[in-house]
Amino acid sequence: MTTQHNFIAGRLAPSPTGLLHLGNAWAFLLAWLACRAQKGRMILRMEDIDPQRSRPDYATAIIEDLVWLGLDWDEGPDIGGAHGPYVQSQRTEMYRQAIETLTQKGVVYPCFCTRRELKSLANAPHLEDTGPVYPGTCRHLPENERYRRIAAGQRYTLRCACPEQTIVFTDAICGPQQLSPNDWGGDFALRRSDGVIAYQLAVALDDAEMGISQVVRGRDILFSTPKQLLLLRLLGKKEPSQYAHIPLLMNASGERLAKRHQSLTLAHLRSLGLHPERLVGLLAFYAGLIPKIEEVAAAELLSQFAFSKLPKEDLRISELQLEDLLA
Ligand code: GLU
Repeated sequence: MTTQHNFIAGRLAPSPTGLLHLGNAWAFLLAWLACRAQKGRMILRMEDIDPQRSRPDYATAIIEDLVWLGLDWDEGPDIGGAHGPYVQSQRTEMYRQAIETLTQKGVVYPCFCTRRELKSLANAPHLEDTGPVYPGTCRHLPENERYRRIAAGQRYTLRCACPEQTIVFTDAICGPQQLSPNDWGGDFALRRSDGVIAYQLAVALDDAEMGISQVVRGRDILFSTPKQLLLLRLLGKKEPSQYAHIPLLMNASGERLAKRHQSLTLAHLRSLGLHPERLVGLLAFYAGLIPKIEEVAAAELLSQFAFSKLPKEDLRISELQLEDLLA
């Protein structure tokens, strides 16, 4: 375990909905370096809040992949710690209580709109999924109409009534941000109609309860940050003091690397004989941390890490570069 100072606490927050791919390796390596470079405490949290998509065998495989990459953590589902449980499906009572608190504050309302997002609300909304702004249809339903529909057995999502306010924060990579409900899609869901807690609430609360001070994650989640900050303010919880949304790895045709690109899973690359240090070297080169592609262990990069070195734009990697990796 790396010597730690407790000022910084970072997290690795994988969703066990598939095997880790190259894009995840990039994001987790940088999140780990950002935290460990400052001798921070690292937490591993399994974001298995969506029971339909999460699988325990993926959680096991993810831990193996992270260890293979050379990353470590001080607290997590495999080793325990003072802020457990580290698996979201075991934290639902806490989320329920937070919804209760928000309800008492008058910012929760039932939404009866049947929406295609029903499935995706528990997932981190990646940029291309950001749909239209929720028009607020159910926000102004009269109370008796709400009761009537609930009594009639209509299913409903719980939404957060977002105050018309701008959330301001500075991102360590993307710079100053000023976002209002229109930018992030308006009133967002806290609980799906099937009872599953939405990603925004689970993540915001977990970050606060686990004492996370530094959030490093993909730029596709940038628009979630104001929602999470809003929730933390409404709940009176401590906010992470630093956010850094890193550019994404794209394939040669400009698509974000995703779990559906099976060939780029770490498990597959490893089965082809790839050494972790080769992969880490390639990622570190893309990140601007080393001048040429060479084999390097994650821990050897700690003294090189700085947010200012990271690219500002998304990166495309070609098949050719990947072939090099395996050569
Ligand atoms: N579990 C989320 C994902 O894998 C990441 C959430 C976060 O870092 O806030 O997309």
